[in-house]
Amino acid sequence: MNDRYSRQILFKEIGREGQEKLLNSRITLIGCGALGAAHAEILARAGVGFLRIVDRDFVEYTNLQRQTLFSEQDAIERLPKSIAAKKRLAEINSEIETEAIVADVNHSNIENYVKDVDLILDGTDNFQIRYLINDACVKHEKIWIYGAAVSSYGATMTIIPNETPCLRCIFEEIPNAGSAPTCDTAGVIQPIISSISAIQTTEALKILSGKTEKLHKSLIQIDLWQNDWRKIKLGKPNPECETCAKRDFKFLEAENTEFSAVLCGRNAVQISPPKLSQIDLSSFAEKLKNYGEIKLNEYLLRITIEDLELTVFNDARAIIRGTDDISAARSFYAKYVGV
Ligand SMILES: [Zn+2]
Repeated sequence: MNDRYSRQILFKEIGREGQEKLLNSRITLIGCGALGAAHAEILARAGVGFLRIVDRDFVEYTNLQRQTLFSEQDAIERLPKSIAAKKRLAEINSEIETEAIVADVNHSNIENYVKDVDLILDGTDNFQIRYLINDACVKHEKIWIYGAAVSSYGATMTIIPNETPCLRCIFEEIPNAGSAPTCDTAGVIQPIISSISAIQTTEALKILSGKTEKLHKSLIQIDLWQNDWRKIKLGKPNPECETCAKRDFKFLEAENTEFSAVLCGRNAVQISPPKLSQIDLSSFAEKLKNYGEIKLNEYLLRITIEDLELTVFNDARAIIRGTDDISAARSFYAKYVGV
């Protein structure tokens, strides 16, 4: 081991033994927006041996205010976030392994991302995916760390299946769409991202170096602007919980039909085809060339038609910007991409 990690080894709670454990650890980061990018940088610098980064989106200028891994060049090239993150992490620490996955996390793929790692960190922006992560992690008995940040408020909780309450023990039902503030409606400041990521990644270091007795065992809620810090101690799992007590993993068993989601942070809708498929972007570009100027890289294609900006990924998934009307976006997708 070179002296890259010497200051972390000097920190006696980690020490040389803990550092060895970190180097042999595997983490999946679900979502690489603001929180995910912050987690990725901290954990790569700390020497976590393997980081899998899963994200469905690409870098835009509106991300740069808070998503610390990304550069203007990434936004110009419209690189997928996981790809841009992998590139930047290689500059930060070339001694660890990273895996970039450009995909929408859903019931058909989540278990593959979860079952071969030691720990999962939440960097997503919506509850739908968090319930999926919760189902998959409870099913495969993997520890995961919930984290959320919007406006100047954030929350986090570490979930150890069968030992601590799971997400569904605490929040029985998904909040109704539109009832919770999002980055789109309430904005967000960077320091709350750093604060929540600091807690999540410190919990990760404790778990991976084997110091689980030091975990905070709470639901932590912070509002930096209002100077409000709350720590709600968590007890045992709810014996009536549908997920961890009754083992009903309903989010993993969703119907395999078309699904779509309004994205956080902009006027856009994502459309995913019902089955995993691959699209040849070059021949697709050929098909669309009469509709307008096409931007193409190895991961995605972009064109503006009828005032809507269409971005299509290799897996036939699309993000349609310029509307938050799901049915309008669906018919636009059917017209130009087809299913
Ligand atoms: Zn539970």
